[in-house]
Amino acid sequence: MKLILLGPPGAGKGTQAKTLVECLSVPQISTGDILRAAVKEGTPMGVKAKGFMDAGELVPDAVVVGIVEERLRKEDCANGFILDGFPRTVPQADALSETLSALNKELDAVVSLEVDTEALVSRLAGRRTCKACGAGYHIEFEPSQQAGICDKCGGELIQRDDDKEETIRNRMSVYLEQTLPLVAYYEKTGVLARVDGMLPIDDVRAAIFDILQVAE
Ligand code: ADP
Ligand code: AMP
Repeated sequence: MKLILLGPPGAGKGTQAKTLVECLSVPQISTGDILRAAVKEGTPMGVKAKGFMDAGELVPDAVVVGIVEERLRKEDCANGFILDGFPRTVPQADALSETLSALNKELDAVVSLEVDTEALVSRLAGRRTCKACGAGYHIEFEPSQQAGICDKCGGELIQRDDDKEETIRNRMSVYLEQTLPLVAYYEKTGVLARVDGMLPIDDVRAAIFDILQVAE
């Protein structure tokens, strides 16, 4: 299965990708996760990306395209992948199309998760992530059993630096300007499917499985 999860920040791409990975046996490729790991390690790429990420701006296309090209050539992508947070610009989508052609692969589906702006803001503001294992939560919509502690590994739950209110607003306008055009881009290619991302997490998951025509 070769899938793109498209949608604004907070739409639920990461949440859905994590459950799809288990059923489809293909890796989740989150450029956001890869970049955050590089920032944490202090690699030259991480140092370069940090300023853009903290400001809620996109990291330059050449950097993220390079990351994804390298990642898609790894052996665990032989049966497919779930792209989460990439592409985010038309040049990134064009570059992806070239890479896939070179690898003799074609996208099976692009799922667009559609969520109201106000809901996105409260999802991002309440998002928490486990510092140790990366599991995702929401203080209201997907709470951990014990506040601040990961159910899966007992790690500390933290808020992402870019999930602060002032950065969230900028990320939304960056999305509208640079990423939203990709909905029309993929609609033209006939692989786009729209999903109501306002539904509860399990219902969104069921809708995606329906589209992919695979059993949960
Ligand atoms: P994205 O990867 O698209 O930025 P996430 O998957 O991290 O978004 O989801 C953002 C936040 O919203 C998380 O805290 C998650 O728990 C919560 N969330 C995800 N999907 C839903 C949903 N369908 N309803 C309510 N909250 C959701
Ligand atoms: P995410 O975890 O997908 O919300 O991404 C967090 C941040 O990483 C974004 O706000 C960008 O600064 C950067 N980023 C992630 N993916 C991309 C991408 N495809 N293109 C450019 N920047 C990205």
